Amino acid sequence: MTAGRILTEAAARLAAAGVEEPGLNAQWLLADALGMPRLRLLAEPDTQVLPAARRKFEKGLLLKEQGLPLAYILGWQDFRGLRIKVDGRVLVPRPETEELAGLAADFLRGRKGPLSALDYGSGSGAIGLWLASELPALKVTGVEKSARAVKCACENALDLGLAERVRFVKGASLSARSEPFDAIVSNPPYIPTRVIPGLAPEVLSEPRVALDGGGDGLDVARMLVRLAPSRLRKGGALLLELGEDQAGGLLAAMPAALWRDKRTHKDLRGVERFVFARKK
Ligand code: GLN
Repeated sequence: MTAGRILTEAAARLAAAGVEEPGLNAQWLLADALGMPRLRLLAEPDTQVLPAARRKFEKGLLLKEQGLPLAYILGWQDFRGLRIKVDGRVLVPRPETEELAGLAADFLRGRKGPLSALDYGSGSGAIGLWLASELPALKVTGVEKSARAVKCACENALDLGLAERVRFVKGASLSARSEPFDAIVSNPPYIPTRVIPGLAPEVLSEPRVALDGGGDGLDVARMLVRLAPSRLRKGGALLLELGEDQAGGLLAAMPAALWRDKRTHKDLRGVERFVFARKK
């Protein structure tokens, strides 16, 4: 059978299973099974798909029909050009988090000398690893509550050749063991607990600890706001990603006596999603 025909049928199957973006998911799965870039697959719909590739594709398609995140099936997620290995141990990095990392890099680029950053709730390690790959003078500490996620992040650091400047430790607070940081960056769990049961199956197969932010979703974010001043250098920045309708309220609760340049940033969809503030 040709790739084009397989894609049409698979997209219909995924749509019937209620999968969002069925066409795109089918393309990624088939490209992966064929070991071919997705765009080439689109340009060459007459490509013959041999039985081995067909079987691999069929396996992925079944998992996708059952609501597994595409990135778990492929085993990786692109994060600003870095290939981050992901599986059920970690949250799949989202496009919004690529924006958060971009904001952090913009801030850090404006500072001189050796730089250090803390990636709190580092998950797969995407934020910290990308920052380190972007800024040669930067050292990153990733702190993560889940031991399984720490393991995944360490594997990513080794795969990407960044293990010398990026280390991941298991923990749930901002330990005071190291020097203060130039930036604390975090995409904390921020979904209110009661919202979680209604999420899409893809999201529900991700680690709950990466999603559940407590009653109003802001438990971890508030902890970071409270402790960050003691862990930041003067002029250092706290950068957070939050959910819809959360950033403004959190920012307002950050005391002017401790913080300056307080602002929120919109994501590409226009949602006030990011909090930025510098320690006075
Ligand atoms: N820092 C990781 C990411 O942004 C994981 C975040 C989390 O587990 N909440 O993808």
